[in-house]
Amino acid sequence: MKRRTVLPAVLALLLCGCRQLTPPAEQTSPADTAVTEAETTLTEPETTAQTESTPAPPPTAADIAAMPAGTVLDAAILRDLPADALFTAEPLPDAVFARISGVSYIENPDITPDELRYLRLLHITPAGETKTGEMIANHRIADDLVEIFRALYDARYPIEQIQLIEAYGGDDDASMADNNSSCFNYRTVPDKGTLSRHALGLAIDVNPLYNPYITDTGVIMPESAAPYADRGGDFPMKITKDDLCCQLFREHGFHWGGFWSNSPDYQHFEMRIPQE
Ligand SMILES: [Zn+2]
Repeated sequence: MKRRTVLPAVLALLLCGCRQLTPPAEQTSPADTAVTEAETTLTEPETTAQTESTPAPPPTAADIAAMPAGTVLDAAILRDLPADALFTAEPLPDAVFARISGVSYIENPDITPDELRYLRLLHITPAGETKTGEMIANHRIADDLVEIFRALYDARYPIEQIQLIEAYGGDDDASMADNNSSCFNYRTVPDKGTLSRHALGLAIDVNPLYNPYITDTGVIMPESAAPYADRGGDFPMKITKDDLCCQLFREHGFHWGGFWSNSPDYQHFEMRIPQE
């Protein structure tokens, strides 16, 4: 019994010795370790770098719709987004009504908030940038406007900006002087006192600085548009009867103010719908 227990002990010692004498080839060489460490070292920062530099996912159409009007967009991010989702008309959201209430919208006998639509649009600026825009219009022309502004965008027709008149505190002169294209504003016709079709959301002014309104007494609006009152001149954003903007509005049944001989209004397109 004793011998039986001793022999395994000797064998164990021998084996132990063998293991101690095992050539270094069986061990991990310092070079191997270095490679392993180097690999680890390379891998870890890569993972970290990926996390840190991973670009944010591109904005969705809903993200873009939530951006303030006038936001410059990278055109590349728009390629994969459905155009239908970038040109929209919807009933006035409460937040938008809160913005316009007491400014362009006041209690009145002519139009209710339910008859208005909130449009989100994109446009190409004269500098070639893609910008977000917003507009409020009568529900009866909202779809026409969406189609027209989408066609203008597709054709890269230059429009400087499309902001609500609220961006100018409801001041139409300031909006025109800033070359802002807009639609709804519950107001009267300047110098006339009659209700403007803008008050019903049935008229749109496009690039107004370069396409002024000239009253029958010769007043130019906006005042700073005097250099563009002579329609024989050649300058950017000039609307003529043959340009794409005018063509599109007329195709959709709008009347162009540029045809009015007594008081031409070159920025102005309006829809004439009998009052219900
Ligand atoms: Zn107008």
